[in-house]
Amino acid sequence: MIEIKGLTKVYDSEEGEVVALKDINLEIDRDDIFGIIGPSGAGKSTFIRCLNLLEEPTEGRMIIDGEDLTELNTGQLRQARKKIGMIFQNFNLLQSRTVADNVAFPLELADINKSEIDKKVTELLELVGLADKANNYPAQLSGGQQQRVGIARALANDPKLLLCDEATSSLDPETTDAILDLIKDINQQLGITVVLITHEMEVIKKICNKVAVLESGSIVEQGETMQIFINP
Ligand code: ADP
Ligand code: ADP
Repeated sequence: MIEIKGLTKVYDSEEGEVVALKDINLEIDRDDIFGIIGPSGAGKSTFIRCLNLLEEPTEGRMIIDGEDLTELNTGQLRQARKKIGMIFQNFNLLQSRTVADNVAFPLELADINKSEIDKKVTELLELVGLADKANNYPAQLSGGQQQRVGIARALANDPKLLLCDEATSSLDPETTDAILDLIKDINQQLGITVVLITHEMEVIKKICNKVAVLESGSIVEQGETMQIFINP
């Protein structure tokens, strides 16, 4: 599903070059929930921004679903981005829009007609358990509910890949568990590959079948979560 070869990202900053990612090699299977764990500054955000095509790698290749993303032109990139949904630590909802209108947003950008959008939004809100909150505003919801809206929005364009950027880091443990269960269901029932980055071991242990440990821009260990993290 995803093949990453020799991915390297160097930033030019005022203090000189910063090597944020150094020769990353990964293979992620279609049915994986793949975790990337590492301390602050390890390069996790840079990795996920490369994968989400928001940041251009300095070197390396990223092949998703047979398509080499490093060889696409602008129009093709826009198409490729639709295959990727993303959720965020702080949800990134539009506060002036209702729950339904937040979920509708990517569909509006994709020029889908109104009746189709309404149908899809209803389906997505049912999937995440928020059908009764369609006309509420984000500020009227709990953190867990806001992340559910984020998930519904991320799934709007039927992505093949869901990227989770510290998606539960601002939630309490109980809400975290509920959101992780939902992500697991999405992976299993909709067949969507999940890549998540976190600094929390518990998140990895709870839902990731595979994990890579990132330190100072390099992967220092990777494999089955069971083999790497479960204590004897
Ligand atoms: P993490 O998400 O694991 O905290 P980041 O990907 O944010 O790590 O950062 C990795 C390294 O790259 C850090 O040393 C950080 O300071 C540096 N970095 C990140 N973004 C930029 C940027 N836009 N310009 C310069 N350096 C950056
Ligand atoms: P979830 O039900 O998504 O897991 P929580 O467990 O955090 O979310 O919240 C439980 C209930 O408390 C929710 O149904 C919600 O209506 C209410 N709630 C929590 N926080 C807020 C808030 N800041 N504003 C309004 N309602 C809230």
